[in-house]
Amino acid sequence: MTNARPNEVGTGAVMAGGHDERTGSHRLNAAQHAAAYARAGLHVLPLAWPIASGCSCGRRDCPSPAKHPLTPHGKDDATTDIKRIGSWWAIWPEANIGLRPAEDVAVLDVDPRAGGAARLAELLAACGVQLPATLTANTGGGGIHAWYQCPGPYRGRLCEGVDIKSSSGYLVAPPSRHMSGRSYSWATEVPITTAPSWLRKLIRRPEGAHRPITTMSTSAAADGLVRTVASAQEGGRNRALHWAACRAAERGAPADLLDQLRAAARSVGLDEREIEKTIRSAMSTGRSVA
Ligand SMILES: [Zn+2]
Repeated sequence: MTNARPNEVGTGAVMAGGHDERTGSHRLNAAQHAAAYARAGLHVLPLAWPIASGCSCGRRDCPSPAKHPLTPHGKDDATTDIKRIGSWWAIWPEANIGLRPAEDVAVLDVDPRAGGAARLAELLAACGVQLPATLTANTGGGGIHAWYQCPGPYRGRLCEGVDIKSSSGYLVAPPSRHMSGRSYSWATEVPITTAPSWLRKLIRRPEGAHRPITTMSTSAAADGLVRTVASAQEGGRNRALHWAACRAAERGAPADLLDQLRAAARSVGLDEREIEKTIRSAMSTGRSVA
């Protein structure tokens, strides 16, 4: 696949359609939106859409209502070919729009129903950082999609409720309609931002490295605790370790998880004394709370 640079998507005609509702001017239809994305270099695919009785596929038990691809090869059919896109929306004028990210683009898919917004806020506070502004969509389900330039390979998720989407998948894009009745919309019009190094550490899977966590701690939640410490910035390292150790204490303080937290703390420059002091403090806090 190509390595399109869709940075311009945030400022072009693509976005304009989303705002026309209020001004009353001409509103782009789905086909025009799909074509505009393709012209901005984004790979487009047609998706199922909501109808009165459920998903447009007609299956009562549809596993991914109003989100699954309509073409046989799914994300692999995604294209910037305007003619092909035109023929799809001629067949399915109401189709939702899927976008497959370019190879060096990662999208944080924050699902508040899975606790993603809260966990992400905790993680960022523990690290003493904020997500940099970037092209961001509001999803129809109340979450966000935040697009970042960041080379792969990627982890599957950043923390509980925050999946990392990439060219191995696709995103439902504005102005697609969600089963909730709400539409996806662009929340920001800024271009896709390059992920800073701390964010890259959270998004990228270390190349050639085996998963650092074994036995009990193979859960993504435990993995998130270790990464929170490993990506903590100076000034926030003790706080990040304390937070992660408290969460570990709540899980019964498994020895292998604590060892992983110690290793992560060492990797960001905390010394042994600070590490043990912080972990002891977290253990007593965790127990008194429990
Ligand atoms: Zn369906």
